[in-house]
Amino acid sequence: MIPTRETFGNIPPASILLFYLLTIISLAIFAHGVWRRFKLWRQGVSIDVEHLFRGGFKQVCARLKPGLLRLWTDALGQQRVRGRGLASLAHIWLFAGFMMLFLGTTMLEVDNIASWISKSLHFHQGTYYVIYEFTLDAFGLLFLAGCVMFVWRRTRRPPSLGHNAADWYVLISFLAIGITGYLVEALRIVWQQPEGIGAKCSFVGLWMAHWFSGLTEAGARSTHLVVWWVHSLLVFLFIATIPYTRLMHIILGPLNLFFAPAVLGRMKPITMEEVEQTERIGVAAIEHYDQQQLLSLDACMECGRCEEACPAFASGKPLSPKRVVQDLKGLMTANLSLVAPAAAAGAPGAKSFLRALHDETILAETLWACTACSACVQVCPVRIDQLTLITDLRRNRVGEGALSGTAATALRRMQASGNPWGLPPTERGNWAEGLRAPTVRENPNFEWLYWIGCAGAYDRRAQRVARAMVKLLNHAQVNFAILGREEKCTGDSARRLGEEFLFQELAQANIATLTKYKVRKILTHCPHGLNAFLKDYPQFGGHYEVVHHSQLLEQLIAAGRLKVPAAASGADAITYHDPCYLARVNRIHDAPRSVLSASTKDLREMGRRREKTFCCGAGGGRIWMEEDPKQRVSTLRAREALGTGAKTVAVSCPFCLTMMTDGIAAQSSTTRVLDIAEILADKLSLPD
Ligand code: SF4
Ligand code: SF4
Repeated sequence: MIPTRETFGNIPPASILLFYLLTIISLAIFAHGVWRRFKLWRQGVSIDVEHLFRGGFKQVCARLKPGLLRLWTDALGQQRVRGRGLASLAHIWLFAGFMMLFLGTTMLEVDNIASWISKSLHFHQGTYYVIYEFTLDAFGLLFLAGCVMFVWRRTRRPPSLGHNAADWYVLISFLAIGITGYLVEALRIVWQQPEGIGAKCSFVGLWMAHWFSGLTEAGARSTHLVVWWVHSLLVFLFIATIPYTRLMHIILGPLNLFFAPAVLGRMKPITMEEVEQTERIGVAAIEHYDQQQLLSLDACMECGRCEEACPAFASGKPLSPKRVVQDLKGLMTANLSLVAPAAAAGAPGAKSFLRALHDETILAETLWACTACSACVQVCPVRIDQLTLITDLRRNRVGEGALSGTAATALRRMQASGNPWGLPPTERGNWAEGLRAPTVRENPNFEWLYWIGCAGAYDRRAQRVARAMVKLLNHAQVNFAILGREEKCTGDSARRLGEEFLFQELAQANIATLTKYKVRKILTHCPHGLNAFLKDYPQFGGHYEVVHHSQLLEQLIAAGRLKVPAAASGADAITYHDPCYLARVNRIHDAPRSVLSASTKDLREMGRRREKTFCCGAGGGRIWMEEDPKQRVSTLRAREALGTGAKTVAVSCPFCLTMMTDGIAAQSSTTRVLDIAEILADKLSLPD
């Protein structure tokens, strides 16, 4: 006998009819729920989806490829879900089980339709049937195991995890659907009495069938019908309620993964034409976000990963990226779906219920607490870009003149003097006094343009890094030059603070200078400068080969141009702090370690390292802001560094140098903080 079963075996025709009617009703409620939210996203600034499909086949494929790859790795491969122990395992199991059950149900319906057309098209039989039933039973167990683990997790409720009563409904209905599914199978086995492999392939149902061994065939059939209905009704309820619960992320997660910007550290430019057209800069009201950003708010399932990764939150500042997303979502729902339509229809008093975005929904202290470290964006399983949500708001505040204090002063100084200290450009080259550091005029045939940056040029401590680097370059006979007084701030801080047009002004001035001297290759010891040249400047026509000093030093050591004496055993231990804009945003973390390994045999790692590094607190323009000593991010990172027992903390960013020095000093520790270039120059005993 060929192993098989009827899709609607034991189900009377009237029940089948009702089943399809309820399927249509539940799908209609589902579609209504999605449409309700879609109407909200549509009120955002239009995104050009059509451009994806313009042009020839090859062009369309090239445009779709990144989004499809993200779906493959992040949605199907669950890549971003991994790495969180039991929570990750629970999600992966539940997801795998859910997908397989969904696919299985779809295939069952395909077979059913095929069989209606012609009995000869029936394929749910034989080997296919055996594999199908076995696979679905196995994945059903995974699905249930995932649910149980999630129930356990919710009872423990980690503080970062969002929770509401509907979450229990979701988990309990999942469990009920899974269990009743197996019961239906068990009762079908009791009345159908399949034999051999046809029974064994449904191994869970077969095992459960023993519970009903006392039933007659008629009893098994009537119980089967009742449980089948319970199971079906639970599924209908589940489908209908997807858009009204956290389960909405099943649909919006993949959608956001497809459309989300994929590159960390890249910001979208704004143009004067845009400002003239819209009469605003940045986001002043919720509908000024674009449609993808509004959709992303609904994709958040409050997993809390971003909050756990956020240095501002960890240091006690009033910023949680999860809260920002949820508050914006609340505002979108309130303002766009309830109040705005009423106000537009002229309902009396409706306007007074509209909630403000700035200072009411998102407070100024929340907005300015962000260090732009990108940790939240990196860990979000559905690639919500919390950082851009924040910087878009900052752009508006700066445009409205709402930024005051030390950060505003730094911006004014950048505008007036081309550096945040407001020091004269004529003093920009003073740091190199007594060193052989030719300018581009003095050495027009240079290979590398060494970009010094504002800190390297004006900050006394960071000047020592630039001097060490110049000594190393000369020792290795690298053909380099500097811009001297012609260099200006890259504008990184200005852009991340929200002062887009000041950034553009600085970028264009620098690009003009770099073009004038035919610069192709840039070396910098500042990860923020590196990111600006790699991700910001190309938007304005500045394309260069850019390396961080750790990368060039690594190459020079490997080529034997810097001969580092073997590290003595018993030498002081060093720990390395990865800067966010180097390790996380630009994925450069091996090179600095390789340079340090040439200098010490005892390189100690902190728990949070490489791409998962923890911020020093300086990015996003925070370095220019006053900070409550009790809320310093640098204190947290310094404690982590000191926890390794190392006597030296190595850095590779002038901002990290300042912050880590302050953080270590606050711990009353004598541990030194040095840049990798200083450590290497010291090791080579290079004279000043
Ligand atoms: S970018 Fe960093 S500081 Fe800003 S919200 Fe995200 S994690 Fe927090
Ligand atoms: S924004 Fe992303 S990481 Fe943060 S809670 Fe929502 S889904 Fe999780």
